[in-house]
Amino acid sequence: MTENISVLGSTGSIGTQTLRVCEFLNVKVSALTAFSNIDLLEQQVRKFKPELAVIGTEEKAKELRLRLSDTSTRVGFGLEGLCEAAAIESADTVLTAVVGMIGLKPTLAAIEAKKNIALANKETLVTGGNLVMKAAKENGVKIYPVDSEHSAIFQCLQGCPDRKVLKRLILTASGGPFFGRRYDELKDVTVEQALNHPNWSMGAKITVDSASMMNKGFEVIEAKWLFDVPVERIDVVVHRESIVHSMIEYADNSVIAQMGVPDMKIPIQYALTYPNRVECETEQLDLTKISSLTFFKPDYETFKCLKACRKAIDMGKNFPVIVNGANEAAVELFLDRKISFTDIGDLVTEAMSSVSVRDINSVDDIIETDILSREYVSQTVGKV
Ligand code: NDP
Ligand code: MG
Repeated sequence: MTENISVLGSTGSIGTQTLRVCEFLNVKVSALTAFSNIDLLEQQVRKFKPELAVIGTEEKAKELRLRLSDTSTRVGFGLEGLCEAAAIESADTVLTAVVGMIGLKPTLAAIEAKKNIALANKETLVTGGNLVMKAAKENGVKIYPVDSEHSAIFQCLQGCPDRKVLKRLILTASGGPFFGRRYDELKDVTVEQALNHPNWSMGAKITVDSASMMNKGFEVIEAKWLFDVPVERIDVVVHRESIVHSMIEYADNSVIAQMGVPDMKIPIQYALTYPNRVECETEQLDLTKISSLTFFKPDYETFKCLKACRKAIDMGKNFPVIVNGANEAAVELFLDRKISFTDIGDLVTEAMSSVSVRDINSVDDIIETDILSREYVSQTVGKV
């Protein structure tokens, strides 16, 4: 049970919901971090009184320091600040909810400082899954999933001491706003349409990733690392209602599902209270109001990003890093209205056959491939 927490990315969708859970559970807050939202960070500091607050740049840190001069909170900035917040002595748990691969180094810093991790930042496992899981094992720390699908699997696995009888993981996917549409029908969709997720309210990047189903591809990779299950035993089913958050299948073909209303406070709270369960500030699930639950096969031809992720984790080496780096760059360009929605999947697929292949043995190897993948995308788009 978490007593003191450091929240990386506290001003985001997961970060703000985490702070509500902390307030509800009376968890003390040691550190908070944001990138540019100085107003919200200041409000959070005044409310939660952490030892340390971290913001993106030195300039912003100067301003924040002035604003907080009547408090005892220290102010840091940049990646160094994030790593300091991750390793802060007073915290027993670090919840990682920054967006993108920037979360990798702070997560490793937290593990080395022997903090348990409540992991929302999936790009960390997509790019550095082997390094992170190895470091967690060596330092004897636990990684508790916050992503709803992985929390569901983690919950279903309670009471399964013998992993040999675990046959299959079944990840559910909402299908996003473009479910049922074909590739050609997605060329002209707008940023607003992509940001209009049917069931979840999330940050912009993950909302676009959900629309392209890159998010589900990332979750396949995340599941492989978290639960040590080979990808061929991880299935994806589209489940429009987002009530069944994922399932596991045992050797006897019995399937266990975890259900609940789509509210991230449930998985966030479970990651903080594990192995206990306590009351949660969410709606109760009333299945009679929902009446039917539907399940479909995903369309791998339209949603190329999902296919790219399966291929990348199967091929290993730096392929998942290429997919992630190209996707981060492409999503940014899409949100800036510089490329079309289908360009995201096309650029990611092309990057996989263009960026040089190498083994990943260190964070520097990951950063190198990440830079090359982003460059590939910006150069390709620049040429068109
Ligand atoms: P948001 O965009 O809402 O929030 C991101 C947070 O990270 C903000 O606090 C932001 O600060 C900070 N941040 C952004 N860029 C940087 C940077 N370069 N350096 C340091 N901090 C940065 O994202 P979400 O909360 O939606 O998602 C966070 C992570 O959790 C993602 O990896 C996502 O895939 C994962 N996730 C999210 C879910 C959800 O329901 N939202 C569900 C499952 C997983 P600022 O506000 O100042 O910009
Ligand atoms: Mg998810």
